[in-house]
Amino acid sequence: MKIDSQIFTSIDYEKDGKQIGHLNVPQSLNTAGWANYFIPIAVIKNGEGPTALLSGGNHGDEYEGQVALLNLVRDIQPEQVQGRLIIIPMLNRPAALAGTRLSPVDGRNMNRAFPGERNDTLTGLIAHYVSYALLPMADLVVDIHSGGRSLQFLASVNMHNLANKEQMKEMVRAASAWGAPYVFIYEDVAGGGLYPSYAESLGKTTLGTELGSANQFGTEMLHIASHGIRNMLRMYNILTDKPFEPPAKASEVVAALEQSDYVMAPVSGIFEPFFELGDQVESGQTIGQIFSTELPFAEPTPVKIRTGGILFSRAGFPLIHQGACIATIVRPFSLT
Ligand SMILES: [Zn+2]
Repeated sequence: MKIDSQIFTSIDYEKDGKQIGHLNVPQSLNTAGWANYFIPIAVIKNGEGPTALLSGGNHGDEYEGQVALLNLVRDIQPEQVQGRLIIIPMLNRPAALAGTRLSPVDGRNMNRAFPGERNDTLTGLIAHYVSYALLPMADLVVDIHSGGRSLQFLASVNMHNLANKEQMKEMVRAASAWGAPYVFIYEDVAGGGLYPSYAESLGKTTLGTELGSANQFGTEMLHIASHGIRNMLRMYNILTDKPFEPPAKASEVVAALEQSDYVMAPVSGIFEPFFELGDQVESGQTIGQIFSTELPFAEPTPVKIRTGGILFSRAGFPLIHQGACIATIVRPFSLT
């Protein structure tokens, strides 16, 4: 297939076996006039079957997916696959190397750059290649996220609330195979251009995740990422190393569908939370307070909420600025 992209690669997506390589993304630097930025990619293919497109590091400071996918590439052999795995562990590699959410090359958020353009900044060029070269091959799309520095979440596999209920049902089924405590249905409150939104719009079974964080990085979330994705791939018979096992405990399906479920800081300052993640909170309640850094002895500003439910996310770092999402509130969700 001829792909109209500035990015090229020596990877042959149609070839059986395990291939390790990179995407060559054109770049021109003061120190290297003719240059390519390398984005690592692996393809593991065996015969006919569905294609799963798996990525981590869309946000550079979220490492759970990067580690889970690096291990997947090392562990899985072609004879354990029926179909094809296309794996990009560090989608926004410049950001992953800098330990930042956004790319230091062009200052952009990869997860606001989709579908990207043929002539674009580095972040947009990668998004464009994923959109027009890789997504057409994919049946199943997984982009592993966590809270990074600025947010902390209860562990979830997530998706938008789609109008296409058949697609949605299949996505919830795929998400439930992970065995994460929650399947989380979210709305966009911080802009468009998301990778999952674009993949969902193409009708693909598309999953994201939010696995903990607030700069925490440990075995519990890594286990969900690593075990979850493998169990889901077994459910689709793409991975045949072991039989699929339904999770011992079913995920709770929850949603934050009201704008006011996303609580934005009314002022900048130091946020003191009054609740832990997982606590039940009520509409009208004060869930924390914000101390002014300029007038620290002034009365702190209360953070009142306008919806009730389970406290699902919280600011990952106490020094917050006005308008930052410092809490998300979810309620049980039923597809029917
Ligand atoms: Zn993220």
